[in-house]
Amino acid sequence: MENRIPLIAGNWKMFKTCSEAVETAEQLARLVANVTDREAMIAPPFTAISLVSETLRGSRVSLGAQNLFWETEGAYTGEISSDMLVSAGCKYVIIGHSERRQFFDETDETVNKKINAAIRSKLIPILCVGESEKERESKDTFSVLDKQIIKGLKEFTSEEMKTLVIAYEPVWAIGTGKTATSDQAQEVHLFLRSLIEKKFGKTLAKSVRILYGGSVNPGNISELMAMPDVDGALVGGASLSAETFSKIVCYP
Ligand code: PEP
Repeated sequence: MENRIPLIAGNWKMFKTCSEAVETAEQLARLVANVTDREAMIAPPFTAISLVSETLRGSRVSLGAQNLFWETEGAYTGEISSDMLVSAGCKYVIIGHSERRQFFDETDETVNKKINAAIRSKLIPILCVGESEKERESKDTFSVLDKQIIKGLKEFTSEEMKTLVIAYEPVWAIGTGKTATSDQAQEVHLFLRSLIEKKFGKTLAKSVRILYGGSVNPGNISELMAMPDVDGALVGGASLSAETFSKIVCYP
């Protein structure tokens, strides 16, 4: 790995009330207080973001959101803007998660607009990409990822992309208990890095962090992190317990 600080990010999805979120964040902050060589992040549901932000103040855990809307403000009932997330204490935002693509009609075009909004507000976007089981079986993994990256990052400059984080999340591995092998993850991460090099140049390709996501747990994190192009993890289910997530963050 070059000089890329590993990022272990937890996506809490639609779990936890405000009090549950604060309690878990408090526990996590305590459990990872001595970790200095990697970054931990949690993305609670919108309702708990401000409270968790207070809880995490001065801790080693960063805060993220799970989504945003690309307009700055306006009559968009139910939506949240990038500036609102910044004002609530967010540093990161997850964009284009496969559940949003699957259940909420997210497309590469809307992903592109959301990334634009994130960088405009100086939020760090975590762009999620990944193939379905059918696409992997029909050997379309690389063409699917190519399309997601090229369309999702259309018309950005390398300067605008300098904080970008990519999460490779094979859809067949999310919440299924099936993890990509470390070799499968490495193969795809290397491919994604080469795409970034082609599109944005060597410097960005070397610095961009590429996370793996899909049934990551305390038992498989070390093997994944041993791969040269795996720079961290995006964790769903196993991030809901502070104890379990801290074991992933503190992988040896
Ligand atoms: C995710 O939702 O991003 C994810 C990777 O979920 P899980 O860890 O539960 O597979």
